[in-house]
Amino acid sequence: MNNEKNIPADPVERLATLRHEFGEHGGVNMSIEASTTFTVMEAGTMPEIFQGRLGPDDGGCFLYGRHFNPTVYVLGRQLAAMEGAEAGYCASSGLGAISSALLGMLDQGDHVVASDTLYGGTYAMLKEFFPLKCGITTSFVDINDADAVAAACTDKTKVIYAESVSNPTLRVANLPMLADIAHKNGAKFVVDNTFTPLAITPMDHGADVVVHSMTKFVNGASDFIAGAVVGSGEFVGSLMDLHTGPLMILGPTMDPQVAHSISLRIPHLPLRMKEHAHRAQVFAERLHELKVDVTYPGLESHPDHDLFCKIGRSEYGFGGLLTIDAGTSEKAEALMDDLQNTEGFGFMAVSLGYFDTLMSCSASSTSSEMSDEALAAAGIAPGLVRISIGFTGSLEQRWQQLERALNRVGLI
Ligand SMILES: *Cc1c(COP(=O)(O)O)cnc(C)c1O
Repeated sequence: MNNEKNIPADPVERLATLRHEFGEHGGVNMSIEASTTFTVMEAGTMPEIFQGRLGPDDGGCFLYGRHFNPTVYVLGRQLAAMEGAEAGYCASSGLGAISSALLGMLDQGDHVVASDTLYGGTYAMLKEFFPLKCGITTSFVDINDADAVAAACTDKTKVIYAESVSNPTLRVANLPMLADIAHKNGAKFVVDNTFTPLAITPMDHGADVVVHSMTKFVNGASDFIAGAVVGSGEFVGSLMDLHTGPLMILGPTMDPQVAHSISLRIPHLPLRMKEHAHRAQVFAERLHELKVDVTYPGLESHPDHDLFCKIGRSEYGFGGLLTIDAGTSEKAEALMDDLQNTEGFGFMAVSLGYFDTLMSCSASSTSSEMSDEALAAAGIAPGLVRISIGFTGSLEQRWQQLERALNRVGLI
């Protein structure tokens, strides 16, 4: 954990200050702690652990695999270092991390103010699941409308929730402004930074807690479902409370083998993010020149371009996602069909952050939890194709594939 005074401001430099975890036999990679239970040397230690007096961080030891696991803890520390947080831990999915983080802060009767353009699963959690199962309600607002956000806050509001870059509309949240409104209202500001690891560091702009679906860019190979939550040491510890901690009691536990694999991919995350963003920027600029209806925060024409420049870290660009509005869902499907089956440009799949390009039509897939009215209000057009730009093949080879497909379906 970063308890030295001189914590670097740069996430990659912070990651490099973490203690290197060697394997049990001196291996350059850490070992996997696969045990589900841990021994104590003296019988008297056990009650101390259960009373919360001896955790793994304060001279005590590990307890049980659903509680803290040392291998999972390493990945949690990496995410915390990347995001500039005091502590972090992992969950078996992004939604596991998000639900745990939120339930860690919210009680029955509490209220959330959230963006009206959220990942579909998060939207369903706040819109349907929480009111029905927990009596926690949410007001959905245009998150960059300061007046609307402030007006939606009540004395029950405990959390303001946004995605740093929204899915699939690619609007950038005004993090300093939202942090300010949250704190003035005695609420915590929670940010989902799945789309922009390294490019945006929400904690630099006032976020209290940051959540990730590591299923996407952080892992980068589309072979694991995983999530993380980072925040203060006290908050992360509270999520593992034996009585009221959602990570402990609801049990969205990350497998240590998964933690080990993802941990080994963190060192090249900066390189991957740069290449995703570089290619997305080049494609977006060329598409814009060809008068294709393209949305990318790296384009000067994007409504939040200046905001991203202000809060982002320029060497990582503007993220790996762009959208093309093909006009109708039929055109969108024709384009994706051609790109996958004729050109081999990428795959029709709902996820993102993979080394190959993934494409989906948001209105009929990842945002299908939303009603037609909610889709329209959020600006998710029926022909909107979300493209997560990969980095396999050469840039020019991929561009030619994209250009030919756009030509064939009549978009250029
Ligand atoms: C995928 C995603 C999630 C959910 O993560 P899972 O790992 O699928 O549970 C949450 N937020 C965003 C922005 C996502 O893209």
